[in-house]
Amino acid sequence: MTAVSRRGRVAVLGAGPAGMAAALGALRAGHDVVVYERYWEARPAGNILNLWPPPLKALRLLGVDTEDLGAPTDTQFHNIRGKVRVDVKLDPDVKAAYGGGFIGLLRPELYERMLAAIPPGVLRFNQQVERIEQDERVVTLHFADGSSAEHDVLIGADGIDSLVRRTLWGDSPKREHRLHIFGGFTFADVAGTAPNKCILTHGRTVQGSWTSIRHKGRDGHQWWMLTATDPSAPPPPDLHAAAAELATGFPAPLPGLIAETDPQHVQRWVLRDRKPLKQWSKGRATLAGDAAHATSPYAAYGAGMSIEDGYFLGRALHGVDLTDLDAVRGALQAYEDPRKPHTARQVQQAWMLGKVFHHTPAPLRPLRDFVFDHTPFLQKVAGDTNPADINKQLALIEASR
Ligand SMILES: Cc1cc2nc3c(=O)[nH]c(=O)nc-3n(C[C@H](O)[C@H](O)[C@H](O)COP(=O)(O)OP(=O)(O)OC[C@H]3O[C@@H](n4cnc5c(N)ncnc54)[C@H](O)[C@@H]3O)c2cc1C
Repeated sequence: MTAVSRRGRVAVLGAGPAGMAAALGALRAGHDVVVYERYWEARPAGNILNLWPPPLKALRLLGVDTEDLGAPTDTQFHNIRGKVRVDVKLDPDVKAAYGGGFIGLLRPELYERMLAAIPPGVLRFNQQVERIEQDERVVTLHFADGSSAEHDVLIGADGIDSLVRRTLWGDSPKREHRLHIFGGFTFADVAGTAPNKCILTHGRTVQGSWTSIRHKGRDGHQWWMLTATDPSAPPPPDLHAAAAELATGFPAPLPGLIAETDPQHVQRWVLRDRKPLKQWSKGRATLAGDAAHATSPYAAYGAGMSIEDGYFLGRALHGVDLTDLDAVRGALQAYEDPRKPHTARQVQQAWMLGKVFHHTPAPLRPLRDFVFDHTPFLQKVAGDTNPADINKQLALIEASR
């Protein structure tokens, strides 16, 4: 590493969770940062959200106020008759520090908290980047209005359809999960709810889940219904009615939560991801968040991993002379190497779980459910291995401070 002669000039493309976290990380690493966002605001992509403790820890270290952000929950997987298949076992000290795992919140509050931590002048809205080029000296961004800007490093945090990823590594098809999800939230009192709970219930082909949430000091619940679909089919005309129909036969409080949800607060998404990349960074540019590892909502960890990316990227850029190409290359590689196994595992696990729960051929479903009800298989995958991965992220964040 060479001595830092001046503050580095970092460009971040995209003001989603990855871009905001990467901006905070690079600022704390001592660099000048500009975030370019195509829309006129940082627009939350949807309403419902859960975060595991590692992104919460990363947010705190990035200077984001996480006080009273979301409702911590104890998470279980049930079958449709209420039998517990999985207890998500977080370490007792993690539970003590965060009140539980899988913290339930609404996405707009996360954005507000992150935006509040970003100093004025860093975010530039209405900036559609159309082309990127780099040489040994700089990265140049070309905007839709014909202007351009030069930076020492570019962080592509521009989501699943990332221009930066395409420019660095070429195009690759999106992977259709042939699933869709309906989600919503309510602050109404509904019979059958309990505080600080997240219950994921799987029927033969439908998942129906709910979690406690805390949003700007109010306690409530969010829910989602997930099942197979033809991704090219038009959305149902009435999302609220379609979600309610899917919840038929699911135990309380799910049907009641849906009934109490304002139809305006019901959204639908088609699930897609991309196969994990072998390499993220090239020259002076790298990727973060969905641009690096487009993650299906089935993982419920895409935003969380995006925030972790931003934190670790900031640590890797700390004290690096960004005019020095070799130093930049080394720092970006040091950032991505430990991130790839964790993020690829989450992406692939979400893909597999989606297939197993929603695309198993009908004759095999009773056998699948027998295995999930009567063997420790699902507990091992979702209740033991996944929390171990989460604990590892917490340890890595602690070690990097
Ligand atoms: C229904 C649903 C539920 C989910 N639930 C969870 C959950 O519970 N927990 C969780 O952790 N994750 C969840 N996720 C996943 C999470 O939303 C994503 O992984 C996360 O938003 C990715 O963040 P990002 O910053 O990488 O990308 P994005 O949020 O997509 O942000 C990319 C930004 O880049 C901007 N941009 C793109 N191209 C350009 C350009 N050329 N010029 C300028 N700006 C550009 C976009 O406008 C956008 O603001 C869920 C997703 C869905 C759909």
